[in-house]
Amino acid sequence: MVKVNRRLNPAFDKYNEISVSDSLRIDFNKKCYLCEEVTRHFEVDHFYPQLAYSHLVNEYENLFYCCQKCNKIKPKKTNISSDNEILNCCDIDVESYIKLKLNIQECKIEVEQVKSNLVLDIKIRNTIKVLNRIYNGENSKSTSCEDLRDEIKSVIASFRKKLDKYEKSKLKRAIVEEIKEDLDNTSSYSTFKRWIIRDNPNLNQQFKQYIGD
Ligand SMILES: [Zn+2]
Repeated sequence: MVKVNRRLNPAFDKYNEISVSDSLRIDFNKKCYLCEEVTRHFEVDHFYPQLAYSHLVNEYENLFYCCQKCNKIKPKKTNISSDNEILNCCDIDVESYIKLKLNIQECKIEVEQVKSNLVLDIKIRNTIKVLNRIYNGENSKSTSCEDLRDEIKSVIASFRKKLDKYEKSKLKRAIVEEIKEDLDNTSSYSTFKRWIIRDNPNLNQQFKQYIGD
């Protein structure tokens, strides 16, 4: 989950109007707020669910860009009450609390809390549960997470190739530009890529200016 900065404030009556999807596409950089897949196929997700929060059904701040798979997998009770509330990526830099790492040997995604915060701890734990369900299929019958992990595997492999090339190359400038794009919030699965950098002291030294740390 990456930090999303909403810049638009569309005028609309109902959340399913085109002006809403057009604005969400721009504000979320075509990126699912839960799994970080960049996709044009998305659904408008109500962060606070429609059934429990009817007054927020048509509030732009409550509408999120979500891929169809995540919208299905996300537990229906998410954000129904404070017990199952997750972090709001439009308010909080989730990445600074939760690390995502691809474990190739075990073919799973490690979702780990890296920082504690008294006020946010319950939300952090709930977010980790939802992400484990999405990435690892925990407590879910859906098999789409296998395809998602394959996709992440291939994106990370290509990113690691670029890092290799950077370390071996004498002309680093061109490859730095490519790595910079990968580390940007707009790129797919950027949390994974940015944590690869943070976990490597040498790379962190070189690239920390592009990950905002
Ligand atoms: Zn998704």
